[in-house]
Amino acid sequence: TAATVAFIGLGNMGGPMAANLVQAGYTVHGFDLVPDALERARAAGVVIADSGAEAVRTAAKEGSGLVITMLPAGRHVVGALRGSEGSDGKDPVEGLLTAAAPDTLFMDCSTIAVEDSVAVRELIAEAGHRVLDAPVSGGTVGAEAGTLAMMVGGAAEDVAEAMPVLEVVGKRIVHCGPAGNGLAAKVCNNMILGASMIAVSEAFVLGEKLGLSNEALFDVASNATGQCWALTTNCPVPGPVPTSPANRDFKPGFAGALMAKDLGLAKSAIETTGIEGRMGLLAEEIYAAFAQGEGGSKDFSGIIELIREQSTR
Ligand code: NAD
Repeated sequence: TAATVAFIGLGNMGGPMAANLVQAGYTVHGFDLVPDALERARAAGVVIADSGAEAVRTAAKEGSGLVITMLPAGRHVVGALRGSEGSDGKDPVEGLLTAAAPDTLFMDCSTIAVEDSVAVRELIAEAGHRVLDAPVSGGTVGAEAGTLAMMVGGAAEDVAEAMPVLEVVGKRIVHCGPAGNGLAAKVCNNMILGASMIAVSEAFVLGEKLGLSNEALFDVASNATGQCWALTTNCPVPGPVPTSPANRDFKPGFAGALMAKDLGLAKSAIETTGIEGRMGLLAEEIYAAFAQGEGGSKDFSGIIELIREQSTR
């Protein structure tokens, strides 16, 4: 039987995820604030609503108990859930929470701060609904192909309920524990990625200064203990891995701005928990500087250019 979902946030990631659900036979009631995103989604078969609340209400009438959000940051998720009262000539906006039928399952796929996710969970629970956090990894390519890695936090029965949808939009689906743990896994993973990309890039620049060819270092490290994704899949020098962004002038891929954002979330989690996280904090500082310039729109492996530039001798 055909199933129905509400999908709020049809941007670079949400748009193709919603399109894949349509392809898989779902009726998707969607909304976004940006007309371009709406047009693309409409062309992909998403039923466009006049507001997020309307998308949720219509989906509920058709028997849907699932609302998916894919929004930029925590404040957008909180804002969409709550709605706003309207002021200074602005119309009030109804929130998603009041539009949903009792006991609706809210699945937030956005990458938001661990602290914000606590507020999101409380809001949803207070309104009498259930919540999953299911941030993703794999970029727009993974979103289009339906091969995203999904890191899911929530109650086992809620994860089971969402599983058919998760299997359409993603491939590697890991239930990481209670609500919040999906985001915790995402933040930890990307902290490894940021720090390891810097380490790999510094090693190539050092190798160059020592007269070592990129190819020789790659051949050694990729088969030795330096082996990691930053080296063997997203290699920051052109040549050894022909598909890596370094071969196409660092066209992303995974943009520096997004890495800087995710490391910002890691930084705030390091500070809240008080863990000894010097590498993570330094990676945040380095990527924040990178993302301020052209690096923001380049692949994050372009950090090697900044390292080369700043190597004085
Ligand atoms: P995006 O900016 O392309 O899309 C977000 C969409 O949300 C926008 O179209 C915006 O108009 C819409 N929006 C904001 N507030 C809204 C509201 N109240 N109601 C309806 N729509 C609203 O961003 P994206 O690249 O799709 O990323 C979404 C999330 O996924 C972010 O948290 C990001 O960090 C995460 N993520 C992105 C990637 C990637 O490669 N792009 C990879 C993994 C995770």
